[in-house]
Amino acid sequence: MKTIINNYDVVIIRKNIKNMYLRVKFDEETHNKYIQITCNNRISNASIEDFIKRSQKQIDRAFNREDTKQATKIDLFRDGQKIRLWGKSYTLSLRWKQIPNMYKNYKLEFKENGTLEFFVPVRSVFNQHNKFLNKFYIEEAKRILKPLAVKWETRTGLHANSYNFRFMKSRWGSCNHKTKNITLNAHLAKLDPIFLEYVLLHEIAHLKVPNHGPAFHGFMQNYMIDEKQISRQLNKNSIELL
Ligand SMILES: [Zn+2]
Repeated sequence: MKTIINNYDVVIIRKNIKNMYLRVKFDEETHNKYIQITCNNRISNASIEDFIKRSQKQIDRAFNREDTKQATKIDLFRDGQKIRLWGKSYTLSLRWKQIPNMYKNYKLEFKENGTLEFFVPVRSVFNQHNKFLNKFYIEEAKRILKPLAVKWETRTGLHANSYNFRFMKSRWGSCNHKTKNITLNAHLAKLDPIFLEYVLLHEIAHLKVPNHGPAFHGFMQNYMIDEKQISRQLNKNSIELL
């Protein structure tokens, strides 16, 4: 179970053990670090909170350490780093705000001159910035998707029950033919919007044709003449490096 203590994501594992252990771990799915506490079944949440407070220094060090797994992501939050949105690259400028560490105090401003001003609370740490940015990408992707989904559902006469965004590592989208739920990769918000539109139509096509046979490509080309080119271009991007 994940809870938030002191602004950290904390997973508590209770076992029949004597001591309490704290580890800073890396979540492969979300690319965030979190705290894992292993402790005795009868330890109260207050004691866990106290333990975390007392370990603050070590935790901060672990959160800010750049071991290989986090290197690319941590790099995202240094001045001068590039952050992508809809195919454009922005140069990050971190602005620390002297305010409490709360989500509503984060703000992203994408400037005409290619600068991204990222306002973050002064005591916040990397994984919180990352969480906010990921949340922003998902909201942004949903905003752009809305009219596109209406457009393609109207044109094709096909209808999905739901559209969801997730950060996925190995695919740009998926369609559950049975439940008619479509999942799209939130990383698409980093690329030119044509790719989101392509993946959307691709998954809508699967509502009709579950495989990638001739019927599928016939359907695609009927609506998007250059679908093969777009698909090839899209797959030149390594999801891992986005
Ligand atoms: Zn497919």
